Amino acid sequence: SKKRSINNFSFFEYSMIEEIERKVHIENELHGNLKDTAIHFVVQPQFDSTNNEVIGVEVLTRWIHPKYGYITPPEFIGIADNSGRIEELTKYLICEVFSKVSKWIQDYGFNKPVAINITPKLLGNRKFFNDLIHFIQFYNIPPQMVDIEITENANLDTDQNILSNIAFCRKYGIRLSLDDFGTGYSKLADLVDFPIDKLKIDKYFVDKIGKETNAELILHTFMNLAKGLKCDVLAEGVETKEQVDYLNSLGLTYFQGYYFSKPVSLEEFEQTYLINN
Ligand code: C2E
Ligand code: CA
Ligand code: CA
Ligand code: CA
Repeated sequence: SKKRSINNFSFFEYSMIEEIERKVHIENELHGNLKDTAIHFVVQPQFDSTNNEVIGVEVLTRWIHPKYGYITPPEFIGIADNSGRIEELTKYLICEVFSKVSKWIQDYGFNKPVAINITPKLLGNRKFFNDLIHFIQFYNIPPQMVDIEITENANLDTDQNILSNIAFCRKYGIRLSLDDFGTGYSKLADLVDFPIDKLKIDKYFVDKIGKETNAELILHTFMNLAKGLKCDVLAEGVETKEQVDYLNSLGLTYFQGYYFSKPVSLEEFEQTYLINN
């Protein structure tokens, strides 16, 4: 009926306006003082399955908004990246986390790499990397404890700014990890010349273990590639013992995933892995 379609239309219109309002609201808050937002940071430990020891942590950003509730990182990271605020947000993360990590170093002799996600856009920004060095010095963090996670989607082989920033990180001894490995665009051959410490195999492939022989074949190939590149390899999003056992059988022993630990607050990480050890 006519009435109904009018109602549907106005509902559609209304939700579109809400959607736009939400985006503008989020963007405005990202442009304000980040300390005034509910943005905070958690860490997900990474493990070596041969001894169950923590080999590092990845920092992940969380935003439980007073009005919108949980906002997914891809949504607000995307908005920050597109509206010129990713640099500020990432520097906020670095300062918050480094101040904690410097305390962990002093109090517990913590010495494991702390991984930070860098968007392809930020990867080309030299000012950001100069600031990163300042923060490393200010908080007294050994550069080898800083692990920069970059995704394959970045134009790793063609963007000169990116290449020069990667060389800059190398010079200071900062680690580099290739995130979401297998899902991006990088031509595998180009990786041979690319200085990388760790490949992080995406959950996409881990999820297919025991289900698709093709994916298992690909995992074999990744392991051989990592061996050839002499870099570490870690599997992401590992949720089951079956996945761990299968990857172990390929010689992979570095893991990150709910099977070992969900992301936890900095306080919980300290309590569980530093104080009680
Ligand atoms: P990512 O870098 O691949 O991070 C791993 C994601 O997988 C995280 O989602 C983590 O919570 C989730 N995860 C880890 N283990 C498991 C598992 O066993 N099962 C399942 N289902 N999920 C698992 P999260 O925190 O929602 O982040 C999503 C993406 O958002 C990240 O993917 C990363 O690309 C981006 N992101 C998050 N925080 C930041 C940040 O501070 N800066 C930037 N640039 N990107 C960020
Ligand atoms: Ca990551
Ligand atoms: Ca990843
Ligand atoms: Ca992923």
